[in-house]
Formats: sequence, structure tokens, C-alpha cells
Amino acid sequence: MTPTIAVDGTAVPQGLHPNVTVDRVRYPDIADLISRLHFSPEDGHIWLHDQRMLLLHASAMGVLRRELIESLGLDSARGLLTRIGYNSGAHDAELARRVRPTAKLTDMFVVGPQLHMLEGMVAVEPVRLEMDVERGHYYGEFLWTNSSEDEEHVRIYGIGAEAACWMQIGYASGYTSVFMGRPVLYREVECRALGDNRCRIIGKPADAWGEEADDDHRFFQAQAFTQGIFGAGRSRLGETADARSASPFKDDKVVGVSAGFNAVCHMVKRVAPTQATVLFLGESGVGKEVFAQTLHRISARANGPFIAVNCAAIPESLVEAELFGVERGAYTGANQTRPGRFERADGGTLFLDEIGILSSTAQGKLLRALQEGEIERVGGTQARHVDVRVVAATNLDLREESRAGRFREDLFYRLNVFPVTIPPLRERREDIPVLMNHFLHRFSSRHGRRVTGFTERAISAMLSYSWPGNIREMQNMIERAVILAPEDGAVDIGHIFSNTEKTKANIFGLGSSGMLASSESLDRLQTLDGEDCIRERVSRKISALLGGNCDDNDPTSLDEIETALITSAVTRAGGNLSAAARMLGITRPQLAYRLKSRGLREQ
Ligand code: ZN
Repeated sequence: MTPTIAVDGTAVPQGLHPNVTVDRVRYPDIADLISRLHFSPEDGHIWLHDQRMLLLHASAMGVLRRELIESLGLDSARGLLTRIGYNSGAHDAELARRVRPTAKLTDMFVVGPQLHMLEGMVAVEPVRLEMDVERGHYYGEFLWTNSSEDEEHVRIYGIGAEAACWMQIGYASGYTSVFMGRPVLYREVECRALGDNRCRIIGKPADAWGEEADDDHRFFQAQAFTQGIFGAGRSRLGETADARSASPFKDDKVVGVSAGFNAVCHMVKRVAPTQATVLFLGESGVGKEVFAQTLHRISARANGPFIAVNCAAIPESLVEAELFGVERGAYTGANQTRPGRFERADGGTLFLDEIGILSSTAQGKLLRALQEGEIERVGGTQARHVDVRVVAATNLDLREESRAGRFREDLFYRLNVFPVTIPPLRERREDIPVLMNHFLHRFSSRHGRRVTGFTERAISAMLSYSWPGNIREMQNMIERAVILAPEDGAVDIGHIFSNTEKTKANIFGLGSSGMLASSESLDRLQTLDGEDCIRERVSRKISALLGGNCDDNDPTSLDEIETALITSAVTRAGGNLSAAARMLGITRPQLAYRLKSRGLREQ
């Protein structure tokens, strides 16, 4: 178990409340961070490690801020800037685990405050820091001076009644949430924009805050889904208390903070009040059904039924009867007349998952239902009117399917009125800690287990995993982990990744070794190391191919070969991407792109 750590990095004896004095605070030398900052003026890049950065005029940010406030209102502008900050903080937290892999916990943690200073946002002075990753305890108090946001805000608006360091609060929250593996919310209790001579921020786990933070949660999510948000506006800022309780930290249905997640929320909210057919696209496990349920819940049909059908789970011969109903005697075994899912969804929403695999007859009937609002039971002759909104989902490329003649083109166009693509989890990594926490709570209470949180190395592994099965995979892993973890203890890496073989192949990246994970992770995960076996498989494949005696059954793909070459080069270059790119005869941005597109570490 990780002991509680005081600011100076010493362990606080169990049972004693950590009590830390200011004069014991020391930042480690920032040289290691500065050395990761590279200016590459000839090709228009600034890199922090391998994140592309921008050097912007603070006054231009001030103008942007002012325009946002004036066009969107204070509240929306604040939300937008908070989430931009959250995104930056989350990326820097992933960086922290890699740039100071062997440092003591606090030295690793203060990469965040140090980068916040290096990036020119604000000077940060720690007042008190209590961290217990495994038990999920966190208390962080910091003083901010020279806040760039306050400077611009006060210049334009003067001293007012609201704290103004929105992006910076977002940064601190995003950074600490990813670092701790659970949502941590900061509030600004003093601010220069309020007339204080500096700002003071306090961070605690989102669920440890009381009522005073109710107003702050909502800035982390673009769209609140609770019903009645736009009913009578009661609060100061025109939203009801319901809207506030629907933050990503509290809403039980849809969970996330990333830009990709927010874009999906925005589209769902736009289309929900209409009667339009909606098509959810995305890899399996990304949460298409959850979004479909949410869409139903916030639509005018909320009081009607929500019927979900997974077309792939029904045998092809039965799918028509299941969807459209059947008359007695229509075929052998049809012993009684039965309404189908369309009729049961009358007045509500019918969710058709995996629509791409429907037979052509079923596709024809579905098209008729969509166009005429009429269905016919199998074996029946009477057309029945149904009032159903169809929401469909697929992980296939329907355009490609229709080009190949497997899916009716007219049905594709009819379904594709309002497509919504849900990004895979590896493209919305900021959501990982929020989701981890969500599932931990859900399954602890469902199985009556007392699990305190995740160990640091479990957090690290989950952040660097590629999640090919997306949210569903995480949900299953955490459910299993909650059952395996010791009572009153934390979920450790072995509880999450139980299938060793699979872990070997996937833990660092898509279907391959992924040596790019932090050296910290590598040190800690040596037992899970599988790159040797992949390297061997790849070289066998290459020599077999070139030697002309290739085994057709060897599953090693071109993509895996390329991935193996890339990861080997990066390993040999000791993580220096420019050097690795030279070895591969490509440019550094090309290498960074290849890493990113493989869901390998991008930093
Ligand atoms: Zn401030």
C-alpha cells in the first residue's frame, strides 16, 4: 500500500493526519522538463517532448476570452476554457509519469505545477499536498501568482465578483484527475480577479466536495443530459440545480470530459428533440447503446418505450419475426401470433444495434417501416401503422457495405440522415480516469465490495493500454478487478489484466509490444514483457516472405511488422523520436503520426 505522502516526499505514519509546513516544499530542478522543450522553427514546430505546442500572445488569448464571453455568455465561455485547460492538464499528467519515472511520488506529481509555470500560465507555490493514490485521498492547496488569465481578465473587465482563472483550474483538475486515476476538482477560493492579491486553489476528489462545489462540476461537461434543464431556470446563471448535478462526475449514464466525448453529447442533444433517424457509428464497445438510451431519455418520446435489439444476436432466420412480428402458422414452429419489436416500441424509440448484418429481406422491410411508418408481420397480409423513432448503430462502414452490394443503398441513405461517430477510447484518453472511477463505484456497490481505488502502477498501465474493446472492455476488466481485489485494498495491475498472454501482446499498444510506454511502466511491468516474442514472430515472417516460403496461416500483418520496426527504432534511440525517425528514414512528425495512429504512446 502506498503511504500517505507529505509535500517533502516523506511517508506520513499511518493513523496520523499528514500535516505539512510550507517551508518544507521543494521543487526538483526543472532542467529535465526544460530539456524536453524543443523549438524547430524551420518546420514550424514547438515540441514539449513530442506534444506539439503553440507560442501564443497572452493578449490574443485575452481577446479570444472576451469574444467568447460576449458571444456565448460568461457561463459557456467559462465551461469552454475550463475544458480546454482540462485537456492540457490531462496530457501533461501522462507526460509526468514518463519524464520522472523513477522519482519519488511528489517529485513526479509536481511536474504538473512546474509545467504550468514553464508553459507561462502562472507561478505555482504548493501550500499543502496530501496524496494517497490507493485510498483515493487527495488534498492539494496551492498559491498562484502572476496568473496570465487574471491579468487579461482584469485588464478587460476590472475587479469583479467571480474568480477568473478558468483554464488554469481546468488544467489543475485534468492533471490531478489523470495522475490520481479519479476525478479531482479544484476550486479557486481566492483570486486576483476578486481583488485578492493572489489566487488560492484547493483540490479534492470530486465526490469529497460538498454543496459549495455544486456549481463547479458542470463546467467540465459541455452538455448536461438531465431532463428539465431548460425548464424554469432557477439559478443565478439560468440553469437549474438538475443541470449542475448532471456533471461528468455525477451523471450515472454518460461519462466523459474529453473534446471527442463532448462533441458527441452536443450532437445527441441537438438531434434528440427532433424525429430524425439517428445512426451511431464507432468501434464496438464505445457506448453506442448508452448514447441511444440517453437520446431517448431527453427526447419527447421519453415516456414511451425504449426497445433495444442487437441484430447480430438473433439468428438470421428469426430476425424478421423478431423485428416485425409473426402470424400463427407463418412457418413451422410459429405456434402463436406474436407482435415484433417494432410494435412493442410504438410511441417510443427502437434501437437497432449492428444493423449492418440484417438480411436483404429484413432491410427491405425496415426501409418500408422508415418510409411509410408501416410494417407487416411475417405470414401476415395486413399493414400495421407504427409510430417508432429508429436509432441504429453499426461498427461497419455502411457506405462500403452498400458499395459491395451487402447493404441496400436506399436504406443506407435513409439511415444516414444524422450520423454520429463516437470516438474510440484510445482517442479520448482524458476520459480514462473518470470512467475508471465510475466503474469502480458501480461495481463496488453492486458486489458489496469495499475497494479503495487503484494502485499507481494499475493507473499507469490503464493509461498506456490501447483499449481495443473500448469502454465495454474497461467495464468488464474493472468488474473482475473489483471482485479480485482484497477487501479494503486497492485494485492492482494483476487484478485488471488477468490474461497474461493477452497482456503481453496488448498492454503497451495495439496488438504489439509498444515499447514506447514510460520507462517507469517498463520497469514495473517487466514480468509482462512480450516484445521478444513479437520481434521473433515478425522476423520469421519477413524472412519467410522474402525467402518465398511463407505460411498462409501466419497471422502476422504488415501493420504489425511496421509497428515492430517503429517500436524497435524508438527503443534503440532511447525514446528520442528524432533519432528514431532518422533510423527509419522518415521525418519526426511522420513518426509521431504513425505512433499516434497506432494508439501507441504519443508523448
Ligand atoms: Zn485567479
